[in-house]
Amino acid sequence: MVPDFHIHTRLSFDSQAAPDAVCQAAIARGMREFAITDHADMNPLDGGYGHFRPEEQWATLMECRARWNGRITIRAGLEYGEPHLFGETLSAILSAHEYDVVLGSIHWIGDRPVETAEFFHGIDLEEGIHLYLAELARVAEEADYDVLAHPDIVRRAVFHHLGWTELDWSPYEAPMRRVLRAVARRGKAIEVNTSYQRRGMGPPGPSVQVLRWFWEEGGRFVTLGSDAHRPEDVGADFAIALGMLRAAGLDSVTVFRRRKPYLIRIQESL
Ligand SMILES: [Zn+2]
Ligand SMILES: [Zn+2]
Repeated sequence: MVPDFHIHTRLSFDSQAAPDAVCQAAIARGMREFAITDHADMNPLDGGYGHFRPEEQWATLMECRARWNGRITIRAGLEYGEPHLFGETLSAILSAHEYDVVLGSIHWIGDRPVETAEFFHGIDLEEGIHLYLAELARVAEEADYDVLAHPDIVRRAVFHHLGWTELDWSPYEAPMRRVLRAVARRGKAIEVNTSYQRRGMGPPGPSVQVLRWFWEEGGRFVTLGSDAHRPEDVGADFAIALGMLRAAGLDSVTVFRRRKPYLIRIQESL
């Protein structure tokens, strides 16, 4: 089973999952390694603001690592909101402990939440998506991160706004390619996030079309993330995501160890 590199526990403000239950779920799914990536939000608008306690998180991760040693390898991660805006705090967190992976996420653009219909307040679809991609380019080009998490998250806003379960990125190919090129050039990864599927918002994303563009721009590193907030969602719908990778011509998934990417061939891991 391909490693899940986007999982939350009760150390995230929006999850009740016991870390040990998450480890058990990953083992039950046949994973040999996975990453715990709890929210670290420095944006005062976010529900997670003020919630992240780096020392408590680190102690919990190390306890889990010791307890499950020999059965599964736990990679220490973070999902960091708006890393292009809150870089100093991120550097301080990363200098204190040896993290394996940093997911860079956009959850807010100014005072607009990118996951709800409110995102499109006073602007049309096209304006909204261009606004989103311009911000994503800033993250891709400037921020410290390993994986650009849910790079098509604006789909959630589109879903709530218009009910669409898919988004054709063709009209936005140039700005999306700019993002993907920056990720590729910097040797970083994008994530295929499967949470849309179980939330009834359409297939995992980004789409095969976007994954192909990533490959054409020189991108080689793609992680899989369930974005699980409950143990039962660990590794959810990875078969669909792997089918999408293959359709895009990718034969490997990526894991991060001490913030370095390693490719795992899809066949070998199954
Ligand atoms: Zn997120
Ligand atoms: Zn997440």
